[in-house]
Amino acid sequence: MPEGFDYIVIGSGSGGAAVARRLHDAGARVAVIEAGRSTLGVAEIEDPSQWFGLQSGAWDWGHHYTPTERILGRDIAIPRGKGLGGSSATNAMMWYRGVPADYARWDAVAPGWSWEDCLPAFKASERWQGGERALRGGSGPLEITRPDADHPLTQAMLKGGAAMGLPVIEDPNGPEPLGVGLANFNIDAAGRRHTSAAAYLAPIIGSERLTVLTETLALGLIFEGDRATGVQVSGPEGVADLTASIGVILAAGALETPRLLMLSGIGSEAALARLGIAVRLKSEAVGQNLQDHPLLRALNFRASTPLGPMKGNGGGTLTIWKSKAELPQADLLAFPVQGRSAVPALWEQYDLEGDDVFAIGLGVMRSHSRGEIRLTSADPAAALDIQPNLLSDPRDLTALIQGVEFLMEMVGSDGFQPFFKDHIAPRSTDDIETFVRRSCSTFFHCCGTVQMGADDDAPVSPRLGVKGIRGLWVADASVIPEIPACHTHAPVTMIGERAAQFILEDA
Ligand SMILES: Cc1cc2nc3c(=O)[nH]c(=O)nc-3n(C[C@H](O)[C@H](O)[C@H](O)COP(=O)(O)OP(=O)(O)OC[C@H]3O[C@@H](n4cnc5c(N)ncnc54)[C@H](O)[C@@H]3O)c2cc1C
Repeated sequence: MPEGFDYIVIGSGSGGAAVARRLHDAGARVAVIEAGRSTLGVAEIEDPSQWFGLQSGAWDWGHHYTPTERILGRDIAIPRGKGLGGSSATNAMMWYRGVPADYARWDAVAPGWSWEDCLPAFKASERWQGGERALRGGSGPLEITRPDADHPLTQAMLKGGAAMGLPVIEDPNGPEPLGVGLANFNIDAAGRRHTSAAAYLAPIIGSERLTVLTETLALGLIFEGDRATGVQVSGPEGVADLTASIGVILAAGALETPRLLMLSGIGSEAALARLGIAVRLKSEAVGQNLQDHPLLRALNFRASTPLGPMKGNGGGTLTIWKSKAELPQADLLAFPVQGRSAVPALWEQYDLEGDDVFAIGLGVMRSHSRGEIRLTSADPAAALDIQPNLLSDPRDLTALIQGVEFLMEMVGSDGFQPFFKDHIAPRSTDDIETFVRRSCSTFFHCCGTVQMGADDDAPVSPRLGVKGIRGLWVADASVIPEIPACHTHAPVTMIGERAAQFILEDA
């Protein structure tokens, strides 16, 4: 096994790739441990239209949410990318950073995370097609582009939103936080997915200060007293211990980071004792506060003509609005799908055949339901019990019902003519609640399971150090205290950027 590292970063996804690159560029010797294979130059990863198929198979961890009656006992897979770049290599490539109100809520529990605090790191990460602006970065590692507006469904979404009274916005990451507009994507100028691995790691591969170990699983942390000094890994050459002279950064994502902490004895005393894991540090909140955006997959409609081949990721616009006018910020988000889109329960109920079917995905972005992750065994390969409690907060259900009504009216409006022909799923506005429960899935934004905060109960400090352990930080979606009303790749990239600053200042 190689040695001589200052830092070991576990996971090469949205957070891990950013923190590793920034530590490297500051002169540190960095090892990145990644359970999956390299994704660099892999055709199915780089082709945006193939993203949906990456959720099943070798590029994914294969996790599932534990069913509840609220979603009619259905199984919901919760995909997580397994490969260099993590979920940024398998996600839908939407780049949406959220609005100041999202970060004001972070700042309230973790001082130092207001929008003004976070904006420089967002800008540092971005190479926005429109160039440097007050709110946008023009020279960062990650390419962010806007799609063409020429697909008939894109046109219909823009005109339909306007017909419903929404402003048509220039840029969802610009100053106007509500309306309908072309989305931003992690797609480069040549039309390829731009993963965090391609953006942050590929340019420094070959540097003598960077070691990337793919197909290497972190099994647990190694400690000397109250300091994390390394990681036990299982790789192509067997099980070995890797050591770091300064510390270890957990960036294994919102499901695997709490697992690694618990396997290493950091978690709920009673839960660890039940599994025979020796308690190193009692931290009851590890694994708690699991959040995700419920996503309806999806409303399906018949168009008056065949849709033709998919463009980009098969979407193109974002529609961002409020379920109730009095809300302080938008809580609903919809995106088009240039083809049918359905969970298995909808396939069974509706006729979705034909090349003239299009869909609209609907998510509630100010979701309030909370859940938890539990280990089922001390075996690192065992399935996790992952319970997000989707729809347990009545506000989430009410907002989704309003959203379905809004979208059905929008598709029937003049803005969608002559593109729209008929409703398929749901067929009518009768019993939308059952449609919501039957189509509810994940927006893939699980987070919050090792939350940061100034409060004694929060496992991680606002500067991302694990409380009670020296030399151990978290730089992934786990630390998010409250899910922002946006997709999560951009916020986690920003967390990775800021983690490096904090670590360099505090280590
Ligand atoms: C199918 C899908 C679609 C999505 N669509 C969007 C979208 O369009 N826009 C958006 O903003 N967000 C989207 N997301 C969410 C977004 O991609 C994630 O929130 C974000 O990438 C999470 O970053 P992370 O660093 O926390 O974890 P990840 O990016 O998942 O990185 C974790 C890494 O750690 C590795 N790892 C885990 N455990 C171990 C271990 N024990 N040893 C070694 N390595 C380990 C994993 O293999 C992975 O590479 C989507 C996600 C998915 C899965």
